[in-house]
Amino acid sequence: MSVQNVLNTIQEKGIEWVDFRFVDLSGRAHHISLPASEVEEETFVNGVAFDGSSIPGFRGIEESDMVMMPDPESSFVDPFTAHPTIVIMCNIFTPDGERYERDPRSIAQKAEEYLQSSGVGTAAFFAPESEFFIFDDVRYESTQNSSSFFVDSEEAHWNSNRKDEGGNLSFKVKHKGGYVPVAPTDSQQDIRSEMCRLLIESGLRIERHHHEVATAGQGEINFRFDTLTKTADNLLKYKYIVQNTARQYGKVATFMPKPLFGDNGSGMHVHQSIFNGDTPLFWEKGSYANLSETALNYIGGILYHAPALIAITNPSTNSFKRLVPGYEAPVNLVFSKGNRSAAVRIPVAAVTPKGCRIEFRTPDSTANPYLAFAAMLLAGLDGIKKKIDPRALGYGPLDKNIYELSDADKAEIRSVPGSLDEALDALEADFEFLTEGGVFSKDFIDNYIALHRDEAKAVSIRIHPHEYSLYFDL
Ligand code: GLU
Ligand code: MG
Ligand code: MG
Repeated sequence: MSVQNVLNTIQEKGIEWVDFRFVDLSGRAHHISLPASEVEEETFVNGVAFDGSSIPGFRGIEESDMVMMPDPESSFVDPFTAHPTIVIMCNIFTPDGERYERDPRSIAQKAEEYLQSSGVGTAAFFAPESEFFIFDDVRYESTQNSSSFFVDSEEAHWNSNRKDEGGNLSFKVKHKGGYVPVAPTDSQQDIRSEMCRLLIESGLRIERHHHEVATAGQGEINFRFDTLTKTADNLLKYKYIVQNTARQYGKVATFMPKPLFGDNGSGMHVHQSIFNGDTPLFWEKGSYANLSETALNYIGGILYHAPALIAITNPSTNSFKRLVPGYEAPVNLVFSKGNRSAAVRIPVAAVTPKGCRIEFRTPDSTANPYLAFAAMLLAGLDGIKKKIDPRALGYGPLDKNIYELSDADKAEIRSVPGSLDEALDALEADFEFLTEGGVFSKDFIDNYIALHRDEAKAVSIRIHPHEYSLYFDL
């Protein structure tokens, strides 16, 4: 949408409010609404002022006055507000008219500009598969069994189904019994369909939705790939619509990577490829998984930088509770066609030259998508620039079930970091690939690491429920 289209939509749809949004370092959206009557062509030139000093991760800026610059291309009509409202994503600028170096959306755009200046290709495409759980919302349902958040065995799970000792008075689907079953096991068909209806109305092209593997309540909706910043905008829109549709149903949707111990977590696998004009650069017929040398080098860059990259694609303490063996989340840094236990999978079913892509399975939805997509692209481009061959460095290809390899074979394979602190250590030691082309600044990375170290510390000093089971009666 051009500026003129936005102004026309305001007239035609009787829009009362224009909601200007930006994201903080963690990927949380913030917004300020202006009466539609106050919004004119000039607003798109001058921007909207706000106080940047109260936004997490933006502190340290000497001047708190900042400016949101709306991107009319990103606008959509908010499906939830009682008063007709149009949403527009913004970049953050300093009062001097410079792109703010800690603004995640500007970093995403700089990564796209860097790709174009690198001579490798003209556009990178991304498609995230962002899984989520829908739980009963305790604000609406006083009978909600809150112990389900701490379920740690199948037996405990079944016990939690019983409302009292008097018999089988309630029912939940068993652990990992949920993958694409029909109703009544899948009780969330309608809520996912409603989410999709609103997503389509808001401009996303939906490809499918389905129930996921975990206990009843895990779902996934897939939308069509797009370029980097647009896909990050789409992901934000997706999370907003999923969470607010759930709320309308008296439920709560969470993208937290591992809300239930002993069951599958929620990932955000990211499919990615590079094109030069109309030419797909990842395809070469007849080679392993029909991958070109460029694609192999891109994979090499992703796997080589993975420990550091994961500090950005998996930036929460909870992320590392998902990255454990046995739940389809990748633990090992290898690539493979079809194999879902590898960190990088090459889809081979029904793939055309243009659809040839790699799937990085490690990320989860606690990632800020602007930063995560930018960082993955930079890791891949570094691999292309340095011609990193993943085969020569022991990153596969490995087409066996890695979970079932012997200990000796497993010892050969590198693993993802075991904790947020380990990933931050790796980022501290390996960050230059992110500063290429000035995409991420050193200041940004230092600030990012400090903020996440604080989070890891805040979690580690708190008493964990399992400590009671281990130590209370000692
Ligand atoms: N939920 C799994 C994960 O944590 C992925 C399941 C799938 O392959 O879609 O990554
Ligand atoms: Mg899935
Ligand atoms: Mg996938």
